[in-house]
Amino acid sequence: MNFKNFPMVSNVVFGRGSFNQLEEILLLKRLNVNAPFIFLVDDVFQGNEALTSRIPLSYEDEIIFISAEEEPKTSQVDALVEHIILKFKDRPSGVIGIGGGTLLDLAKAVAIMLTNEGETHEYQGWDLVRRPAIYHVGIPTISGTGAEVSRTTVLTGPEKKLGINSDFTPFNQVLLDPELISDVPKQQWFYTGMDCYIHCIESLTGTYLNAFSQSYGEKALELCKDIFLGDHLSKKEAEDKLMMASWHGGMSIAYSQVGIAHAMSYGLSYLLGTKHGVGNCIVFDQLEEFYPEGVKMFKEMKAKHNIELPQGICKDLSDADFNKMIDVALGLVPLWENALGSNWQKTITRAKLRSMYELM
Ligand code: NAD
Ligand code: ZN
Repeated sequence: MNFKNFPMVSNVVFGRGSFNQLEEILLLKRLNVNAPFIFLVDDVFQGNEALTSRIPLSYEDEIIFISAEEEPKTSQVDALVEHIILKFKDRPSGVIGIGGGTLLDLAKAVAIMLTNEGETHEYQGWDLVRRPAIYHVGIPTISGTGAEVSRTTVLTGPEKKLGINSDFTPFNQVLLDPELISDVPKQQWFYTGMDCYIHCIESLTGTYLNAFSQSYGEKALELCKDIFLGDHLSKKEAEDKLMMASWHGGMSIAYSQVGIAHAMSYGLSYLLGTKHGVGNCIVFDQLEEFYPEGVKMFKEMKAKHNIELPQGICKDLSDADFNKMIDVALGLVPLWENALGSNWQKTITRAKLRSMYELM
C-alpha cells in the first residue's frame, strides 16, 4: 500500500472528572463474569484512595500496580501475560492502562500478547502482529508522549528498543481526564511536556511533513507555547491544554516522523537507561545547529520554569559505549531521513555523533 491506512483510537472521552464514567464504559464491554478487567496502574497511585477507590472493580477484576521507574521491557510484558493466563479461567474482558507512557505502553503490549502466540520481542517492528488485541483502554495521568493516541508501544527487548507498530496497537478507548495530571511533579511535567514540544518541532521541520501532520503539529505547538511560555492560563486551563497538546503532537507524528532528538535519545536510553522525556531534553538542548528556532524556544521554556538538565551523563563512557549509542541512533534511518533528507549520511557521520554525545 502506497499510502498509510492509519487506524485511530475508536472512542475517546474528554473532560474533568470523566474518570468517574469508567464504570459505565466498561460495563458494556464485560464478556462474562469469569472474564476480568485487568487494571495496570502506575504504582505512584498505590495508597492514593482518591484514585484507586474510583477504579470500578467487580467479579474477578484485578489491579496490578507497576513501577514506572524503568521503561517497559518485553520480558515484563511476557511475565504479566503469563500471570494473567495462569490466574484466570477466561481471557480477560479488557486491559486498562492508568499512568504515563510507561503504563500506557504496557497495557497496549499486554492486550496484544494475550491473543498472539510466542514472546513479546518477536513482535518488535512493523506490522508483525497477526491477531487483534483484546479490548484495551488508555487513561493518561501525565501528558506529552502521545502514547495515548499512537500506533506503537515502545519496548526494550533483549536486542533493541523498538516499538510494536501495528494496526492492533491503538487503544479501543481513551479517557482524557485533566484532573488526573494535576499532581505530576514539576520536573517530570516539564520533561514529558517537552516530549510533546519536541514531537512538534521534529515533525514540522521534517522532510516528511504533509498537510495532515502539519495541521496537528501546528495546533500542538501553539498549545505548548501557551502552556510553557504564556502567563495567562490558570492551572486547570494549562492541564486541559497539555492533554490536548499531547494528543495533537501524537497525531502529528503518526503521519510523519520524529527526528534527531529522538534518534539520539534512544541511544542514551539503550545504554544508560535515560528515560524518554529527560533524554529528549538533554539531546535537544544541544541541537541548535539543526533546529535553531526550536532550540532557542526550548531554552526559553527551560529558563522560565527553572529547569536544570542533568549534565555530563556521557563523560565517563568508553569507546565501546559511544559506539553502542551511535549504532542505536544510526539504526533509526527514517528519523534521520525525516530530519535531514535522503543524503543525511553526508552530515551525520559516526565522528559527528560522537562529538555531539560528548557534549551531553
Ligand atoms: P512515565 O510513564 O515513565 O512516568 C514518569 C514519572 O511520572 C513516573 O515516575 C510516574 O510514576 C510519574 N507519574 C505519572 N503520572 C503521575 C501523576 N499523575 N502524579 C505523579 N506522578 C506521576 O512518563 P512518560 O514520559 O509519560 O512516558 C515515558 C514512556 O513513554 C517511555 O517508556 C517512552 O518510551 C514511552 N513513549 C511511548 C510513545 C508511544 O507512542 N507509545 C511515545 C513517546 C514515549
Ligand atoms: Zn517522544
